[in-house]
Amino acid sequence: MRLISGHYVFTGREFIRNGVVETDNAGNIAGVGTLGDSIVEKERTEFFNGIIIPGFVNAHCHVELSHMRGAIPQHSGMTEFCKSVISYRHSDVNEQIAAMYEADKLMENEGIVAVGDISNNDLSLRMKRDSRLIYHTFVETLNLNPDAAGEVIAEARNIRHSFEKAGLRVSVTPHASYSLSEKLFELSVAEGNSSGILSIHNEESTDEMELFATKRGKMRDFFGRETDLFLHEYDNPLLRILKYTAPETRTLLIHNTHTDRQDLERASAHCGKITWVLCPASNLYINSELPDADLFAEHNAHVAVGTDSFASNTHLSILRELKILDSAFPKTGLQNLLRQATLNGAEALGLDSELGSFDAGKRPGVLLLSDIDFKTMRLTENSKVKRLV
Ligand SMILES: [Zn+2]
Repeated sequence: MRLISGHYVFTGREFIRNGVVETDNAGNIAGVGTLGDSIVEKERTEFFNGIIIPGFVNAHCHVELSHMRGAIPQHSGMTEFCKSVISYRHSDVNEQIAAMYEADKLMENEGIVAVGDISNNDLSLRMKRDSRLIYHTFVETLNLNPDAAGEVIAEARNIRHSFEKAGLRVSVTPHASYSLSEKLFELSVAEGNSSGILSIHNEESTDEMELFATKRGKMRDFFGRETDLFLHEYDNPLLRILKYTAPETRTLLIHNTHTDRQDLERASAHCGKITWVLCPASNLYINSELPDADLFAEHNAHVAVGTDSFASNTHLSILRELKILDSAFPKTGLQNLLRQATLNGAEALGLDSELGSFDAGKRPGVLLLSDIDFKTMRLTENSKVKRLV
């Protein structure tokens, strides 16, 4: 057994000053305690400068877009971003796969142990099978032509089946409120309801909000008349999601850059198991804006953190996302941020029996978070993370 200690241990829920984590070499947690006075125990304990934390959970990524690193201009807005992603989809397959393997290694080096990953095809399957990380793949549907709904859902089920056969966690999910016909949206949410988990992009940009509020704008110009077939029923993207999502389905809502008080109240009234996943670096990259993290805290909302993909981020680092949130929303505090990046993410993905905290019997990974400002308990520009187990 190893005894690992630092200035603090963050258990997944709270800090323990001079805490100690007991783990075997394979990373199975035996328990957490405080550094005792016994000389024998002190001699056996490995002490590190910093905070000992469980492995990070990246609640939102699209690893299959890794080959787009640096390719899409920043701050060009959501509609332009969608156009660029579509045009870069048809790159060389071997290049795409090599970029995914590299992204997986980079995430591992950043202390990430699990990923909620959106996929539109099965190109990431081999990498996920080979990876040391745990992936939950969300097979994403998007198509605005109501006549294509049957075909699109059949294809998504085929992709889901390939991942299942490889022994990987997988479910089908709609992309967003604005990019599916009513029929396909209903069928895709039903798939998620039956598997018990969904991951849907929500209220990400001004273009999306404008589309629902005014039925016109850049997105309407890009997507065309097929959006009119359902837009008349909704003046807000979240309403469409809540209409079909079963309250007992774990629902990850991604981005929420424009989510307001009324949305949070509507979501609580729905009684859903909703996790609000924030991907601040991606929001800055595409739209130069951030979600109001203080608002989620005021509502005691369940928040997790994602990196999104290399199409809209320069790094796949949860720590970097936390630095952005800590500097823009200092009220949140390090303890809450770390919980969002560990246990909340694991709960959102249904992985909390294995990951996210130092409870006995779990194997969450053990990280050293160093270069913290201990006076203020804030992250610094130099804060870094290193995997210990
Ligand atoms: Zn995304």
